[in-house]
Amino acid sequence: MGASRSAGRRLLAWYRRNRRDLPWRRTKDPYAIWVSEMMLQQTRVVAVIPYYERFLARFPDVHALARARIDDVLALWSGLGYYRRARHLHEAARRVSRDGFPRSEAHWRELPGIGPYAAAAIASIAFGERAAAVDGNVIRVLSRLNATHAPVRELAQAWISSRSPGDFNQAVMELGATVCTPKAPLCPRCPLSSSCAGRHDPLRYPAPRARKRITEERLSVALVVRGGKVQLRRRPETGLLAGMWELPPARPRGAPLAVVRHCVLDRRQVISVYPGRPRRGARFFGDLSRVPLTAAARKCVVRLLG
Ligand code: SF4
Repeated sequence: MGASRSAGRRLLAWYRRNRRDLPWRRTKDPYAIWVSEMMLQQTRVVAVIPYYERFLARFPDVHALARARIDDVLALWSGLGYYRRARHLHEAARRVSRDGFPRSEAHWRELPGIGPYAAAAIASIAFGERAAAVDGNVIRVLSRLNATHAPVRELAQAWISSRSPGDFNQAVMELGATVCTPKAPLCPRCPLSSSCAGRHDPLRYPAPRARKRITEERLSVALVVRGGKVQLRRRPETGLLAGMWELPPARPRGAPLAVVRHCVLDRRQVISVYPGRPRRGARFFGDLSRVPLTAAARKCVVRLLG
């Protein structure tokens, strides 16, 4: 029972027959794999694919990214959220372009924005290092497989195949994403069901996490359009959404043009958009696809201007 070698072999065979054909699975290029791992943090696969493809078309290798201006990187990331990932990726690309790619999980972790999960994923997939990448999917699969509420990092490291660690990591994640799902695991179709100690009551595992408190935030912003261009202001260079562009604040007066809802981290924003006047020193932008715009601002503009 549990995470045995034979279960691991079945899992790998299942993965090779059933894996989704994703663009970052067609390459061993460490740069491309690194970009995909950064984009996939906190973001769904279907949302990442077009961003990944555009990003690699514009910055095809680490040197191209290192040479880019941060505003161009952020503009391409705009809409994907968690912009700190893009800043870290850009900063790390400058180091890698100068010093070369890290060759071990431990060295990947020294780069900005790369934690234990991403370091292990990149080192195993691109360089074949036997390092277990433990994300939420992996925790769920291993907790159920072993019917445990205890931490599973050591179990994951002991279980990982030494011959195909990159495929193995991806196989556990793929099983968690497509079969051993959080609310409705498909146990009869699971390649591990005969070894799974938790299959009779899978929803007991893993231990439930404390829920985050969501706070509601009410904002008022101004939409000012002049000659087909939209007025924007830049956020401060530090803190949340640092350096991104957004609609300037407005004083609520009369009925708003639109009310837009947006979630960012643990905040639920209710944004009322009002007509406004040009502010002194404001900047107007025409082609917003080239501007690092916050996702909330993009939503407001799209709602009102299409
Ligand atoms: Fe998850 Fe069910 Fe497979 Fe166990 S048998 S790993 S609970 S899908």
